[in-house]
Amino acid sequence: MEQTEDLAIGLDIGGTKILAALMSKNGEVLSKCQTDTKKGKEQFGDLLLTTINVLINEANIEKTRIKGIGIATAGVIDSKKKEILFASNLGLSNFPIGLFLESKLGLPVQLYNDANAAAVGEWMWGAGKGKQNLIYITVSTGIGAGIISNDNLLTGMTDSAGEFGHISIHFDGPLCPCGNKGCLENYASGTAIAKKAHERIQGGAVSQYLSVDTVITAVDVCNAAERGDPFSIDLLEEVGEYLGLGIINLIHLFNTEAVILGGGVMNGAKFILPAIQRTVQKHGIASMVDKAKIDRSHLGNDACVMGATGLFFKESTQNAALLIK
Ligand SMILES: [Zn+2]
Repeated sequence: MEQTEDLAIGLDIGGTKILAALMSKNGEVLSKCQTDTKKGKEQFGDLLLTTINVLINEANIEKTRIKGIGIATAGVIDSKKKEILFASNLGLSNFPIGLFLESKLGLPVQLYNDANAAAVGEWMWGAGKGKQNLIYITVSTGIGAGIISNDNLLTGMTDSAGEFGHISIHFDGPLCPCGNKGCLENYASGTAIAKKAHERIQGGAVSQYLSVDTVITAVDVCNAAERGDPFSIDLLEEVGEYLGLGIINLIHLFNTEAVILGGGVMNGAKFILPAIQRTVQKHGIASMVDKAKIDRSHLGNDACVMGATGLFFKESTQNAALLIK
């Protein structure tokens, strides 16, 4: 790599961890670090600065090459004001993360929704590379999506596009905290998997490895399925069918070329992915679903942080082009 190439910092701020990366424009990661988050504005702000310092020191580069910071977070954000409006896991409300880092570091900052950032990461450097139409879906505690249509990231009016977890797949389903009934998230998220496993075993179903004597998580269900537990395999296949029903709607709406799945629940991809593919093939419009490749994320946990950096580069290039015009 040229020693003068522009660099940017990416931050992926999750509920429990911060993943940070220093990257070049062509996707090369110069340094990377992960740390546990801290609650409260002051501690969290200090932690961000320390993390960024570690990142820069490890890469051993001229600081002037760093052009800015792209941040992706699962919290509720105002991307224009560059504020985290609400993030319960971090104990943050109305935290002006953009202004804070800009004033401390003198670098421009951009703030993004995490599923959108991950979609861009896969689009630029991962499973969606070279595609003009793709949808990234994260299946984790909740379910979200980032949509790239004709080489554009769809953000919507308030950056809230892609709330895939809150499309209803059952008009008479359980009431969701969002106010809708039968949202996909209540059937196929990590939270739903844990809840279903617990309820079914308590109701008399038998698992070889899971018991209601301890708290059951979606990770436990994935691990049990991997060890051959029929109860867990059935549950993950059912999750795949529900996700498949939701994904058919996305393919029909966006005529996408690729559906890329990431997030912790995809540790059970061996069982979930074939069930998704079967469901989509069975119920979708053949001419559309036949052309849509459904695959796992190639970048895994790095999709979001790489995408946040990629988005920063894309936007700064666009802004420079606008200034020239
Ligand atoms: Zn909902």
